Amino acid sequence: MLKIGETKPFFPCDNLGVGENGRLTFAGRDTVALSQKYGTPLYLIDEMRVRKNCRTYLQAFNKNFPSGSLPLYASKANSFKQLYRIMQEEGMGIDVVSAGEIYTAKAAGFPMENAFFHGNNKTDEDVNFAMETGVGYFVADNEEEVLCIQAAAEKKNIRQKVLLRLTPGIDTHTYEAVNTGKVDSKFGNAIATGQAEKITLLTLSQKNIELCGFHCHIGSQVFTEDVFECAAAIMLRFMAEMKAKHGIQAKILNLGGGYGVPYVQADGRIDIPAKIAGLAAQMRNECAALGMEMPAVCMEPGRSIVADAGLTLYTVGAVKSIPGYKNYVSVDGGMADNPRYALYRSRYTCLIANKINEKTDFTASLVGRCCESGDIIQENVSFPANVCRGDIAAVCTTGAYNYAMSSNYNRLPRPATVMLTENGDYVAVKRESFEDLTKLDI
Ligand SMILES: *Cc1c(COP(=O)(O)O)cnc(C)c1O
Repeated sequence: MLKIGETKPFFPCDNLGVGENGRLTFAGRDTVALSQKYGTPLYLIDEMRVRKNCRTYLQAFNKNFPSGSLPLYASKANSFKQLYRIMQEEGMGIDVVSAGEIYTAKAAGFPMENAFFHGNNKTDEDVNFAMETGVGYFVADNEEEVLCIQAAAEKKNIRQKVLLRLTPGIDTHTYEAVNTGKVDSKFGNAIATGQAEKITLLTLSQKNIELCGFHCHIGSQVFTEDVFECAAAIMLRFMAEMKAKHGIQAKILNLGGGYGVPYVQADGRIDIPAKIAGLAAQMRNECAALGMEMPAVCMEPGRSIVADAGLTLYTVGAVKSIPGYKNYVSVDGGMADNPRYALYRSRYTCLIANKINEKTDFTASLVGRCCESGDIIQENVSFPANVCRGDIAAVCTTGAYNYAMSSNYNRLPRPATVMLTENGDYVAVKRESFEDLTKLDI
């Protein structure tokens, strides 16, 4: 138990806690017991939290946006069949970025008319597959794609619904609407350069395409004030201009994803219902000023739906102190199941689940088991001084972009994903076996 003068560990989400036995709990469950039941490394998903995060968006949308508006789960954050079933049950739409995600959603029985297909380079095969699968909306990125969609839709004798991806020119770091900034992107069509208008006219002239609206995505892990408001203002102005010049009545404005979540104590927190209410109020004012009807609004939250619903458990192996240099705590996973620190120095809160109340005065890097010096999960972690082989390390807020970015590097089998519910727990994705690793080898 906590001794006087000690500080409580920081928990990035209120689904983390400490049990009677001084062990870390997640979704009210003893994480050490879960590690014993399922083995490590292990991805845990708090299903109640996923549903709660969906409902936060759904309720805010119902309250603030016109009918036809829908939050879409950005499934690149984490994609497996059970997650799509949960999205269906909650009434979310989805965004998908590949034929593989489309296949997975369809295999889960997701109603594909509520799917939006993204990507800056969809192949002919992707376009055909998505159409055959009944994907509701294509978010077209470029002119070649518009022509490809037209050809495929004509062959099938259908009229494909399309949104066009635009770049409003927002720099999320300075939140200034600048004419250059993010205009320089591999995604979308810049409003500032006239390319947005050009692709709009091209799309309008395609017989087998129904132009339903416009899309933008300004970035990820966004905390800065007003970036969504800025993007919405620029997009609405563009829509009003297209209406005035070309008589285009676009029904949908999709503002993309990106609300940030806290990983460490220093991170901000976003009050999503308040943000959405503020955004909607501003959009209504702008629409009134522009003399246009408020379009249906979509957003595409990925991280803010699943990140804080995830926790990864590892077993500690070697603990190494190099006098005059650094200390290392090694675990039985690493960059193969979580490459985010190696990729872009992502911050995480890391804890020793079975020693949660102990004083943390041993600073070390939490490192993986891959043959790669960059295989680091986090640097400068405060561990209990008695951290040792056999302890259970927990990395918080791993529900987004962990399993989705995992690999078999070093021929490590991917961990299982276990869902935690009100009444129990179940395996949603099985742990990979050695046979799985060789199943495609001849
Ligand atoms: C990545 C992405 C999202 C999701 O972003 P989050 O930061 O996870 O919310 C949504 N839409 C598009 C187009 C994306 O590329």
